[in-house]
Amino acid sequence: MKILLTGGTGYIGSHTAVALIDAGHQVTLLDDFSNSKAAVLDRLRDITGTAMDFFEVDVTDEVGLEKVLSERTFDAAIHFAAPKAVGESIERPLLYFKNGVGGTVALLQAMERHSICNIVYSSSATVYGMSDDLPLREDAPTEVINPYGRTKLMCEEILQDLHQADGRWNATALRYFNPVGAHPSGLIGEDPQGVPANLMPFISQVAVGRRPVLQIFGDDYPTPDGTGIRDYIHVLDLAEGHVAAVEHLASDPGYDVINLGTGNGISVRELVDAFERVAGVPIPTEVVGRRPGDGPASWADASKAADVLGWTARRSLDEMVADVWRWQSQNPDGYPD
Ligand code: UDP
Repeated sequence: MKILLTGGTGYIGSHTAVALIDAGHQVTLLDDFSNSKAAVLDRLRDITGTAMDFFEVDVTDEVGLEKVLSERTFDAAIHFAAPKAVGESIERPLLYFKNGVGGTVALLQAMERHSICNIVYSSSATVYGMSDDLPLREDAPTEVINPYGRTKLMCEEILQDLHQADGRWNATALRYFNPVGAHPSGLIGEDPQGVPANLMPFISQVAVGRRPVLQIFGDDYPTPDGTGIRDYIHVLDLAEGHVAAVEHLASDPGYDVINLGTGNGISVRELVDAFERVAGVPIPTEVVGRRPGDGPASWADASKAADVLGWTARRSLDEMVADVWRWQSQNPDGYPD
């Protein structure tokens, strides 16, 4: 298949590009480098042995999108491009609605003009809100707890309406749990700007000496060790889930929502212990208060992805940690400018 990846140089987009090429597909990457670096393109070429077909375009730029879709043909798009920081979304909601929602609408309009009606959308388990009905199934009630989560839910609803209006559209929203890890080459990985908001990149920056101590946000949750539990999934498993989802669009599935997770919950302390054991470096920690908006536990019911897509996450927690550590120790300051 010929596949357009918006946000193609981002963390999940870049790993999905590798997985798609490995599976024999052709990819075109689109990104505005608002949260990624051009060096990713060199690294992708080194991993795949192929120069990337790339356009520097902001997904809200209708003229830029039109140019890409006029110059290439595509069977499907995978739409990653969107801002993703919960805290920033609370401070700057319009940025999230313009880029997260407006960018999706602009992409869908451009696709419609060119009769490309197959899309895989990057959604998030954040749409389950604070639900404690574990494991989380796709038919669990959704709940908006911040503007970022609202953009994800709104885009899911837009895709559903679009399929309702025009049955040619096939759209699969993938609800990601907690992607971590890196390509085993150590050439690509997660490179957050500023202070990492997420646990795994924070731990790896402590491990490499960029930050002195990991703050554990609460050890008084109703969990076995008191720390928060999440479903961490290797980014390459997640990437392979996208390959399965985009291939599944060829069977004309209409609109669907599918969790991408492992089905296993891991606590903050378990993740820190695994990192210390696998990487062989101490991670100093201090317990502080809970982070506002955090729930105690979240993990997926991953059975729908297995049933519908024939996909299951297969990489272990130790592989996630080993691959993060290889990426972070080979690139202590992330990608070069
Ligand atoms: N967490 C933490 N310290 C940090 C970052 C996160 O203790 O510096 C905890 C957080 O409270 C949650 C878990 O780690 O229990 C995963 O947080 P992350 O932000 O990575 O994912 P999310 O909460 O969005 O699922």
